[in-house]
Amino acid sequence: MEVNPTSFAQQILTWYHQHGRKSLPWQHNRTPYRVWLSEIMLQQTQVTTVIPYFERFIERFPTLIDLANADQDDVLHLWTGLGYYARGRNLHKCAQHIRDHHHGEFPTDIDTVMSLPGIGRSTAGAILSLALNQPHAILDGNVKRVLARHHTIEGWYGVKAVESKLWQVAIANSPTEQIQPYNQAMMDMGAMICTRSKPKCDLCPVATSCQAKLTNRIAEFPGKKPKKEKPAKRGILLIQIHNNQVYLQKRPPAGIWGGLWCFPQFDDEQQLQRHLQTLALHAEPEPLTAFRHTFSHYHLDIEPIIVVLAQKPDMVAEQQADWFALTEQHSIGLAAATEKLLAQL
Ligand code: SF4
Repeated sequence: MEVNPTSFAQQILTWYHQHGRKSLPWQHNRTPYRVWLSEIMLQQTQVTTVIPYFERFIERFPTLIDLANADQDDVLHLWTGLGYYARGRNLHKCAQHIRDHHHGEFPTDIDTVMSLPGIGRSTAGAILSLALNQPHAILDGNVKRVLARHHTIEGWYGVKAVESKLWQVAIANSPTEQIQPYNQAMMDMGAMICTRSKPKCDLCPVATSCQAKLTNRIAEFPGKKPKKEKPAKRGILLIQIHNNQVYLQKRPPAGIWGGLWCFPQFDDEQQLQRHLQTLALHAEPEPLTAFRHTFSHYHLDIEPIIVVLAQKPDMVAEQQADWFALTEQHSIGLAAATEKLLAQL
């Protein structure tokens, strides 16, 4: 079903005039400086968190020149608790850039605004539309979610083609007049109605034309970031037994199972065979059931091999290792795979 852009915008605007947010601190005395400050603070951060920070910032740095001339320490001090500190540093840098290259006046041309440090296409559109009512579309996280659902735009935003499609739709839906309340309304819709989880479709002004709602596929939109398939590695764990004791090594502090006790591990047969040749075997090594252990970045396919020794080998001085009675409870940190295998012995 084709969506009529005029009616979409009209419904959004009607909803905004009744329910949208109109008394946020940056909505009074809208200047590009104040809107810019709020837009940067609002990235990845809720409105209620931002309000006191915005007010303190504006009181301390009422103009862009005040911010540009401030010490970075002062700027970051006022940013403390807001998180994502690169935003605070970029904000300061950007203010200095405007002071030095634009006579201290916030530029009003979209290409120039987009070329400023830390300002992308959507933020530039938001600053110029909200502060100066210039006709630019916006596409922040909230707007992307509303449009992806309403127009059932498949795929993850991180893919260029998906983002381009969303921009096309954002531009096509934008009204030629009242762009400032419309953009504010789209942000509010995403934050208040078309929320990430449990969207309030019964309160949504565009529910009757929302493709995701009509086809009962809301949970599919926006498309998720594809999960990367984890690589699989092989690990041969050698369980050496002598006189009802088992040999364990303490792993180095960095890397998997850092600082935990584990069976000696080999990457392949050759490594294993070289090691077995140094041992006095009582019987031939026997494989136990293989299993997979999953770490955050890869799967380890574990092949346990058990071998009974005729005598204990000499201990290697530089390795932290020891023999432990099989029947005892051990008060050492054991790697998960070690614990699992010990329980089977
Ligand atoms: S109907 Fe529901 S899913 Fe569709 S845009 Fe409205 S709130 Fe979002």
